[in-house]
Amino acid sequence: MSAPAEAAPARVPVMIPWLGEEEAQAAADAVLSGWVAQGPRVAAFEAAFAERVGAGHGIAVSSCTTALHLALVALDLGPGDEVIVPSLSFIATANAVRYVGAQPVFADVEPDTGNLTVATVDAVRTGRTKAVLVVHQGGVPADVHTLRDRCADWGLALVEDAACAIGSTIGGKSVGQGALLAAWSFHPRKVVTTGEGGMITTDDAARAERLRRLREHGMNASAAQRHASSTPVLESYLEVGFNYRMTDIQAAVGLVQLGKLDAMVARRRVLAARYDELLRDVPGLSPVRDPAYGQGNFQSYWVLLAEDFPVGRDALLAVLSDAGISARRGIMAAHLEPAYRGHPHGPLPVTERISRDSLILPLFHTMTEEQQDRVVAALSGAARPSVAGG
Ligand SMILES: *Cc1c(COP(=O)(O)O)cnc(C)c1O
Repeated sequence: MSAPAEAAPARVPVMIPWLGEEEAQAAADAVLSGWVAQGPRVAAFEAAFAERVGAGHGIAVSSCTTALHLALVALDLGPGDEVIVPSLSFIATANAVRYVGAQPVFADVEPDTGNLTVATVDAVRTGRTKAVLVVHQGGVPADVHTLRDRCADWGLALVEDAACAIGSTIGGKSVGQGALLAAWSFHPRKVVTTGEGGMITTDDAARAERLRRLREHGMNASAAQRHASSTPVLESYLEVGFNYRMTDIQAAVGLVQLGKLDAMVARRRVLAARYDELLRDVPGLSPVRDPAYGQGNFQSYWVLLAEDFPVGRDALLAVLSDAGISARRGIMAAHLEPAYRGHPHGPLPVTERISRDSLILPLFHTMTEEQQDRVVAALSGAARPSVAGG
């Protein structure tokens, strides 16, 4: 152990949300308005968000996890049905399938994007497959145009887990445009945050109406509609629903965040390009990059370690941590977690390789070049232990 250096530089976080006075004021205004549950600000956020992604309707909910659950309920999926999902995803993707009693079937991913493809989906498709839940992992757009066509041929519903992908594009258009159902997250680890929160987008008006009911106990008239009416509205409960509502305080913050989205994505892409440039000289590291058909928001800037990298991924995380840098293991693989022990699956070699040998580097709106240089220096030292004097 070395003695603590004088004025050691502050730790570099892996991610911090870009929140400021404007969000604080918007939240305060919502509180002072006296309407704090789902109300006018949620409606405004839904409209602004749907417009931003080019979808007909937005239905705000409490998280992306609940958005995924409702999307699968709205497709009437249940016991006996199989839904193809990547194992290489945050565990909520697979769990949502379990919530409706259906069976998640893990498909492998392609090495470059970490996403499902037509080929990996086709490899695990059976007569019981009803839907595919594709993830735009870490903000890297999946090739959904190709997948949508094939799923249509196969008679399968394609749901998009766009938790990480606000601001990512395919052919210049927002991810989610043209999606049957897309689910979004506003958790602080994502680019746009409301603390907790989620959204479903769709072009289907009837399905949007059902989703609005499902998030509010299956009621045929929302609290906001009843409040706005001058005559008593007697609600009824059309099916078993949930309380998955977003609050107006969260939506107020979301509206401000949405206004900053272009600036946030632009900044992340500048920092990602600078990482690319600096890491070119570090042997054994392959950074994630844009696919040919689209552009990511670099919500997660991950690097894959070569099989012969001098230290393993977890040791590298420790090296970074000792240098005052918070990185994270790469995207998890659900099938390796205790919650899925014994769950049947085929071979998932790419999933296991990426999940074992990748890490997510710090990247946040206010990151300085000096902070980025520190990250690169630590990685460089680990990649060339002899040069570093080890
Ligand atoms: C973060 C994330 C979720 C869950 O989002 P919450 O809003 O925290 O529920 C789901 N899927 C993916 C791919 C995610 O990254």
